[in-house]
Amino acid sequence: DRGAIIDRQRARESSARTYARTLAMVPVQAHGMTVVGADGRRYLDCLSGAGTLALGHNHPVVVEAVRRVIDAGAPWHSLDIATPQKDEFTDELFATLPRSLAENGRIQFCGPAGTDAVEAALKLTRTATGRQSVLAFTGAYHGMTAGALAVSGGVAAKSPMAGAATEAVRLPYPYEYRCPFGVGAGRTAELSASFVERFLDDPNGGVVDPGAMILEVVQGEGGVVPAPHAWLQQMRRITADRDIPLILDEVQTGVGRTGSFWACQGAGVEPDVMVLSKAIGGTLPLAVVVYADHLDSWEPGAHAGTFRGTTLAMAAGAATLRFVRENELHRRAAEVGDQFLAALGGLAHAHRCIGDVRGRGLMLGVEIVEPDSTPDATGARPAAPALALRIRQECLARGLIVELGGRHDAVVRLLPPLVITDQEVGAVLDRLGEAVAAAER
Ligand code: PMP
Repeated sequence: DRGAIIDRQRARESSARTYARTLAMVPVQAHGMTVVGADGRRYLDCLSGAGTLALGHNHPVVVEAVRRVIDAGAPWHSLDIATPQKDEFTDELFATLPRSLAENGRIQFCGPAGTDAVEAALKLTRTATGRQSVLAFTGAYHGMTAGALAVSGGVAAKSPMAGAATEAVRLPYPYEYRCPFGVGAGRTAELSASFVERFLDDPNGGVVDPGAMILEVVQGEGGVVPAPHAWLQQMRRITADRDIPLILDEVQTGVGRTGSFWACQGAGVEPDVMVLSKAIGGTLPLAVVVYADHLDSWEPGAHAGTFRGTTLAMAAGAATLRFVRENELHRRAAEVGDQFLAALGGLAHAHRCIGDVRGRGLMLGVEIVEPDSTPDATGARPAAPALALRIRQECLARGLIVELGGRHDAVVRLLPPLVITDQEVGAVLDRLGEAVAAAER
């Protein structure tokens, strides 16, 4: 039974386990946005496998695509050898990419995780430019391998990796609610852009010839912090002017989630390199890096790996990309995201423990703060991680699974599938509202 399974796993699993600590459930069935536990309880899933489920659980087109591979007796695993599934996946992916990459891009299958593709992007730009250092941003999350940790913001997880081979310089990300410049008032993005430019032009700034800039268009793990479109355009101009390849990590923002197929398209920005994973595999592990062909400086075998040809993932991924594109689910994500933001804004008015609500499309965050604290000069109040955790538990008790994230683990994150129904939107908001009220008591 449920309790026994949880206890047995707790006894053997690493103490680094995360979700298992705070989501005391044993999922045995799932469909769409619903997950059914071993005890028969039903949950609405706003975690979506950490953002991998663009179409929710067990979507018929994904199931069918996987079943076709199995029924055909095709190899499940094929290294990087050409297969019909890889061909189809590549076609589907390129049909969605920003124009310059769609026309002149190259793809490297990495895998199986997002962090592998981040490593590939760092190595690629370093090889192509011959330059070592990387510009990264505060609050960033790019994964758990050495290079990805080096360009991420969370220092705690990375301290044992001190001396990692990637030399990164972290610049202030435009986090409006907790303005790194202590100003706020809508000026954060403008100040960040001008800081970046001055910093790069300062001969004593301490950064020599960066080989890349890497960033998330909306920081996910960092607490759902969307970068304004104008800021992203400025980063594009600043990097282009200085011949610095711009790497966009769209591992979490991709496949329609933020209201455009790729988040950079919302800002009309064309990167040199894109790092893609999570939803592109239609819930199966798959990660790729896509880049401008002039960066293709690798010798054969320069970037290898065993799991670069998982036929099932390519089939599931191709089906997912096609379904999102043909049904324009990114538009649905934009619309529903706006509904969510409006309703969450109402919730923030009703509850002092909500400091900020923000997001883009179906990547949404509710920042939980100390209700009885006074705001600092920028209007922000201290983060309240314990209260956020209580809200998450109250959500779970009401059949709602949410994610926590952010600088202080005090941001309740909602990543529902793009196929969420109007009725499910209502249910998520009702349950979240009740959970906040219960946790506050
Ligand atoms: N980049 C971003 C933006 C992510 O959100 C994540 C995962 N949350 C990663 C990279 C790392 O992906 P993975 O966990 O598959 O290695």
